[in-house]
Amino acid sequence: MTAALGRPTRLLDGRSDLAACVHCGLCLPACPTYQATRDENDSPRGRIHLMRLAVEGRLSTDGAFAHHIDRCLGCRACEAACPAGVRFGSLLERAREDRAAGEGNAGARWLIGAFTGRASPVAYAMLRVLRGSGAAAAGARLPGRIGHALAWLAATSPLSTSASPSTSPFAPPEKETDSAPAYALLEGCIMKGLFQRVHDATRRVLGAAGYSERPAAGQGCCGALHAHAGLADAARRLARRNIEAFERSGARWFVVDAAGCGAAIKEYPDWLASSAEWRERAEDMASATCDVTRLVANGSDLNAELRAAVAHDAPCHLSFGLRDDEAPLEALSAVRGLAIENLPSSRRCCGGAGLYALVHPELSGRILEAKLQEIEEGEYDTVVTGNPGCMMQIGAGLRRRRSRVGVAHPVEILDLGLGRAGRGIRGAAST
Ligand code: SF4
Ligand code: SF4
Repeated sequence: MTAALGRPTRLLDGRSDLAACVHCGLCLPACPTYQATRDENDSPRGRIHLMRLAVEGRLSTDGAFAHHIDRCLGCRACEAACPAGVRFGSLLERAREDRAAGEGNAGARWLIGAFTGRASPVAYAMLRVLRGSGAAAAGARLPGRIGHALAWLAATSPLSTSASPSTSPFAPPEKETDSAPAYALLEGCIMKGLFQRVHDATRRVLGAAGYSERPAAGQGCCGALHAHAGLADAARRLARRNIEAFERSGARWFVVDAAGCGAAIKEYPDWLASSAEWRERAEDMASATCDVTRLVANGSDLNAELRAAVAHDAPCHLSFGLRDDEAPLEALSAVRGLAIENLPSSRRCCGGAGLYALVHPELSGRILEAKLQEIEEGEYDTVVTGNPGCMMQIGAGLRRRRSRVGVAHPVEILDLGLGRAGRGIRGAAST
């Protein structure tokens, strides 16, 4: 407890959500951090209690408040379990905004600058060189944060396969035609820097499913990392920039192949709620935004074939943000020869959570452990998951265990199925 405390202004605006919590505890079994630590302060109910104390002026926004709010994954599994409809994700962003206005989280800010700032293209180029040299894979089993970070980088390598991705016959037409509904693709920052191959696969597969692309010039980072770290003004700036880019594109759909970015765009109306005009524009964009697998599932039939046993792990932001975690299964069900099923823990966070695994490696690793066990017992060739943080987190964990199972984006499997019908996947990633 602290004597003279500044009031957490953003949380004060969210008092109705705080008041909606009836302390029933039904969210506790769904919360990965509570399940890992068994500390009530690491549960949704405990965090809401800390937020209430801060609003009442009985707790400062550093110390215990900061510790337990920082340790939240932001997975929003608690929202789906809550009978009272508490919007925990919104409360969390408010709490982090108040925290950032005070002491803030310097480590997270530094990482966000490195991954999304002006110098990020240079940072990504250096990371690609490190990855290509094999040094990341070689150092992936080093102890501590360095080994962990190298394992994450190594896990961005392409899947090793006996098939080849599809090529020009499936490339989308360059201009929109009447028969090809148009989409614009969010290129993002980490996706563009380390997963360009996923964007390439997205474009080929959407072309095969009957869609054409319109560029959304001037777009940038979705702002999710900023919002999660409480840097709300920066997140709002990025949201406005992306709304303008999407409107200029004239496309019907705004497609994401990173579920975390899609979930952030669905939050744009809340982020921009203080302006009626921007809120309306944000709502239009949010309703036009969907995961690539949703558009594939709703598009023309694909003539795809691939022999492989694949497990699907739903990113939290697809389950609880975009609320469409059936889309990858629907899209992949069109691939002949593919055996696909949800991991039993598919709706439970892997512990990746944006930059969480780099900031909290120990707790993140504990949360991941049970999922890795399931994967190894399942005798799959590959795990698919549609978010870069999840691909890196699960891929890094499998590498550190020397597993033969690889990790891919669902759209990469679709792309492989289109390219070389009848071939299979060899297993673990190559470098
Ligand atoms: S967002 Fe996830 S980690 Fe945070 S309190 Fe809710 S369930 Fe727990
Ligand atoms: S389930 Fe909802 S109402 Fe119950 S303790 Fe959790 S957040 Fe509060």
